Amino acid sequence: MSVLAIDAGTTGVTAVVVEEDGSVAAKGYEEFAQHFPKPGWVEHVPEEIWQATLEATRQVLRSYDATRLQAVGITNQRETVLLWDRETLGSPRRAIVWQDRRTADLCARLRDEGHEDRVSELTGLRLDPYFSGTKLMWLREHEPHTWALVESGRYAVGTVDSYLIARMTRGTYHVTDVSNASRTLLMDLSTGEWSDELCELFGVPRDALPELVPNWGEIAVTDPKTFLDLSLPIAGVAGDQQSALFGQTCFDEGDAKCTYGTGSFVLTNCGSSIERSEAGLLATAAWRSPDGELTYATEGAIFVTGAAVQWLRDGLQIVGSAAETQAVAGTVPDSEGVVFVPALTGLGAPHWDPHARGLIIGITRGTTRAHVVRATLEAIAFEVRDVLETMPARSSLRVDGGAAANDLLCQIQADQLGVPVERPKVVETTALGAAFLAGLGAGVWSSSDDLRHTWSLDRRFEPRGDRATADAAHARWRDAVERSKGWADQ
Ligand code: ADP
Repeated sequence: MSVLAIDAGTTGVTAVVVEEDGSVAAKGYEEFAQHFPKPGWVEHVPEEIWQATLEATRQVLRSYDATRLQAVGITNQRETVLLWDRETLGSPRRAIVWQDRRTADLCARLRDEGHEDRVSELTGLRLDPYFSGTKLMWLREHEPHTWALVESGRYAVGTVDSYLIARMTRGTYHVTDVSNASRTLLMDLSTGEWSDELCELFGVPRDALPELVPNWGEIAVTDPKTFLDLSLPIAGVAGDQQSALFGQTCFDEGDAKCTYGTGSFVLTNCGSSIERSEAGLLATAAWRSPDGELTYATEGAIFVTGAAVQWLRDGLQIVGSAAETQAVAGTVPDSEGVVFVPALTGLGAPHWDPHARGLIIGITRGTTRAHVVRATLEAIAFEVRDVLETMPARSSLRVDGGAAANDLLCQIQADQLGVPVERPKVVETTALGAAFLAGLGAGVWSSSDDLRHTWSLDRRFEPRGDRATADAAHARWRDAVERSKGWADQ
C-alpha cells in the first residue's frame, strides 16, 4: 500500500509516492512560470499550476504501478489566492501569490482605520500583504467586473489546495482545511470557522469560500476523466508549512522544524492552545482531526531564502544552478564583510516591513561572486537565527526543504545557532506530511506512532567555530537589515 502526495509549491509541483515504511518510491517534478508584472508583484497562471500537477503525476506513474495507490494527499503554497469559474473551472485572472506586495498601502489604510488589533485578535496574524485577505480586497477594488461574478456566485474563491481539489474532481468539491484557511485573514482562529466579521471587513462573500474539512479522512474523490484515469480518495490536505511540521512528525507540544524552500518557515507545535507573540511570530492552525480537535502552531515566516538563491541563478546569473551555490561559496572561508539582505519582497518575521528592499553592502574591489554567493547562504542562516531568537531556546533544530540539501548552509546555520542542525533522510518533508495525512485518512497508517517510526536521520551538523565570530557576523547583519528597511517608501 502506498500514497500519492502532491506538493504544489511556489516554484513548481512535486509528486511523490510514499510507501508504508515512509520511503519515497517515485518522484516527479514540474516547474511553472513566475510572473512579475510590476515591481513587488508576483503572479502564477492557475492553469499552469494544474498542468504542472498533471505532468509531475504523469512522471510518477511512468515508473510506478498506480493500482498500489490507496489515496492522494495535497499540500500547497499558502496564502496565494485564485478565482475560478465553478462550471468551466477556467480562471478569469492569474493567482496573486503570497510574496506579492501590492497591498502594502491597503494594509496601511486598514491599520490607520484602527483594524489591526481586532484582526490580530481574531486571526493570530497581522495586517501584511502576505496574507490572502487584502489580496482579495484589492481584486474587489481594482477589478470590479471580475469581482461582480464572485458576488453573483459564478466564480469560486480559494487557495491552491481548493483549486487543485476542484480540478481533480471536475468541480464537485469546493473545500479547504484550517491550515490554509488560517492564513487568509478570514478565519476565526479560536473556532476554526470562517468569520462573518472578517468576511465583511475584507468584503469577501462567505458563499464564495470553500467548505472547511478536517485535515485527514474522507475529503473528496478524484475524477478519472480529468485526473489521469485515477479514481482515488483525496484523504489528506494541509498548507505546506503545517504539512512539513506533520512530515517531520512534530506531533507533540514544543516540537519544531525549519523548512528551507522559496522562503523559510520555523513552526512550533503548541498543542491545543493559541500562543500569541509580541516578537513578530504568527499564531496559526496546524491541523484539525476528523473528530474536530484543533492543534495550533507558532510560526516565524521568512519570505526570501531559497528565492534569493534563485535570484543569483536567474537574476544575477552568477550560478548555473541552486546546488552550485555550495561549491562556489565553499571556495572562500567567509564573505569578507559582504552582507546581503535579501528583502526582495519586503521583510517578514521578525521585522515585518513590506517596504524593505534588498541590499548588498560591504563590497570592495576584492569582492568576487564567491563572496556574494556565500553572503546569500549566510543571509538565510541569519534570517532563521533572527526568528529562533524570538522563541524559547532549543537544544537542536530539525530542518528540511529543497535548500536543506545544501551542506554548507546547514553548517553555517548550526554555527550561527550554536546548536546542532538535524537533517532527516527524506527532505521532501512537505510532501511527506501530505502523504502521512492521506495515509492516516485512508488507513495506510493507523496512528501517529506508526508515523514516528518512519523518521530517520541523514546527518547532524554540529556547531563549529567560536561564538564571538558568529555573533560579530550576526551583529553586522542586523545593522544591514536596519538599512534595508523602508526603502520602497522613498
Ligand atoms: P518551494 O516548495 O518553496 O517551491 P523547495 O522546497 O522545492 O521550495 O525548494 C526550492 C528552493 O530551494 C528554491 O528557491 C531553490 O533556489 C532553493 N534550493 C534548492 N536546492 C538548493 C541548494 N542545493 N542550495 C541552496 N538552495 C537551494
